[in-house]
Amino acid sequence: MASSRLDFLFCHLCGTLLTVPSTEYAQCPLCKTHRDMQDVCDKEISFTIHDEDIRKELGMEIIEEHTVCKKCGKCGHGEATYYTRQMRSADEGQTTFYTCTGCGHQSQEN
Ligand SMILES: [Zn+2]
Ligand SMILES: [Zn+2]
Repeated sequence: MASSRLDFLFCHLCGTLLTVPSTEYAQCPLCKTHRDMQDVCDKEISFTIHDEDIRKELGMEIIEEHTVCKKCGKCGHGEATYYTRQMRSADEGQTTFYTCTGCGHQSQEN
Protein backbone atom coordinates (compact mmCIF):
# COMPACT_ATOMS: atom_id res chain seq x y z
CA MET A 1 0.00 0.00 0.00
CA ALA A 2 2.79 2.42 0.84
CA SER A 3 3.65 4.25 -2.30
CA SER A 4 7.24 5.33 -2.12
CA ARG A 5 8.04 8.97 -2.46
CA LEU A 6 10.60 7.80 -5.01
CA ASP A 7 7.84 6.45 -7.26
CA PHE A 8 8.61 8.96 -9.96
CA LEU A 9 12.05 7.43 -10.45
CA PHE A 10 10.43 4.24 -11.62
CA CYS A 11 8.78 3.42 -14.92
CA HIS A 12 5.02 3.83 -14.65
CA LEU A 13 4.53 0.94 -17.08
CA CYS A 14 6.84 -1.79 -15.85
CA GLY A 15 8.19 -0.49 -12.55
CA THR A 16 11.84 -0.59 -13.57
CA LEU A 17 14.21 2.00 -12.12
CA LEU A 18 14.69 4.71 -14.71
CA THR A 19 18.09 5.66 -16.02
CA VAL A 20 18.97 9.26 -16.82
CA PRO A 21 20.94 9.28 -20.07
CA SER A 22 20.68 13.04 -20.46
CA THR A 23 19.47 16.09 -18.58
CA GLU A 24 16.43 16.18 -20.85
CA TYR A 25 14.71 12.97 -19.98
CA ALA A 26 14.77 9.76 -17.97
CA GLN A 27 14.43 6.44 -19.74
CA CYS A 28 13.24 3.01 -18.75
CA PRO A 29 15.98 0.51 -19.66
CA LEU A 30 13.41 -2.24 -20.11
CA CYS A 31 10.51 -0.85 -22.15
CA LYS A 32 12.32 2.31 -23.35
CA THR A 33 9.63 4.64 -22.10
CA HIS A 34 10.84 8.22 -21.88
CA ARG A 35 9.94 10.48 -19.04
CA ASP A 36 10.38 14.22 -19.20
CA MET A 37 13.11 15.31 -16.80
CA GLN A 38 11.17 18.47 -15.97
CA ASP A 39 8.42 16.27 -14.62
CA VAL A 40 10.88 14.33 -12.50
CA CYS A 41 12.62 17.40 -11.07
CA ASP A 42 9.40 19.18 -10.15
CA LYS A 43 8.35 16.27 -8.04
CA GLU A 44 11.71 16.01 -6.39
CA ILE A 45 11.56 19.63 -5.28
CA SER A 46 8.11 19.18 -3.81
CA PHE A 47 9.34 16.43 -1.48
CA THR A 48 8.22 16.83 2.06
CA ILE A 49 10.98 15.80 4.36
CA HIS A 50 10.10 15.59 8.01
CA ASP A 51 12.47 16.43 10.81
CA GLU A 52 12.34 12.85 11.90
CA ASP A 53 13.51 11.64 8.50
CA ILE A 54 16.43 14.03 8.56
CA ARG A 55 17.40 12.93 12.05
CA LYS A 56 17.24 9.30 11.04
CA GLU A 57 19.38 9.98 8.03
CA LEU A 58 21.93 11.83 10.10
CA GLY A 59 21.82 9.13 12.77
CA MET A 60 20.69 11.56 15.43
CA GLU A 61 18.63 10.50 18.37
CA ILE A 62 15.09 11.81 18.59
CA ILE A 63 15.00 14.56 21.19
CA GLU A 64 11.83 15.09 23.12
CA GLU A 65 11.10 18.62 24.18
CA HIS A 66 9.28 19.49 27.35
CA THR A 67 7.87 22.72 28.66
CA VAL A 68 8.90 23.99 32.05
CA CYS A 69 8.40 27.10 34.18
CA LYS A 70 11.71 28.88 33.99
CA LYS A 71 12.38 32.56 34.04
CA CYS A 72 14.24 33.73 30.98
CA GLY A 73 17.48 35.54 31.81
CA LYS A 74 17.02 37.79 28.82
CA CYS A 75 13.37 38.82 28.59
CA GLY A 76 11.99 37.62 31.94
CA HIS A 77 9.42 35.34 30.29
CA GLY A 78 8.36 32.54 32.63
CA GLU A 79 8.21 29.55 30.31
CA ALA A 80 10.81 27.61 28.38
CA THR A 81 11.09 24.35 26.55
CA TYR A 82 13.94 22.09 27.48
CA TYR A 83 15.58 18.87 26.50
CA THR A 84 18.42 16.94 28.05
CA ARG A 85 21.30 15.45 26.24
CA GLN A 86 24.09 13.12 27.22
CA MET A 87 27.35 14.63 26.13
CA ARG A 88 29.82 12.60 24.14
CA SER A 89 32.32 12.14 26.92
CA ALA A 90 30.75 10.38 29.90
CA ASP A 91 32.34 12.56 32.59
CA GLU A 92 30.65 15.66 31.22
CA GLY A 93 27.34 14.21 32.32
CA GLN A 94 23.95 15.33 31.11
CA THR A 95 23.29 18.85 29.92
CA THR A 96 19.87 20.47 29.91
CA PHE A 97 19.17 22.94 27.14
CA TYR A 98 16.49 25.58 27.66
CA THR A 99 14.81 27.69 24.99
CA CYS A 100 12.64 30.60 26.09
CA THR A 101 9.18 30.36 24.49
CA GLY A 102 8.96 34.15 24.61
CA CYS A 103 12.10 35.30 22.86
CA GLY A 104 13.86 32.11 21.83
CA HIS A 105 16.84 32.78 24.08
CA GLN A 106 18.84 29.63 24.67
CA SER A 107 20.70 28.62 27.78
CA GLN A 108 22.09 25.43 29.19
CA GLU A 109 22.72 23.88 32.55
CA ASN A 110 24.81 20.92 33.55
ZN1 LIG B 1 9.31 0.40 -18.36
ZN1 LIG C 1 13.15 35.16 26.77
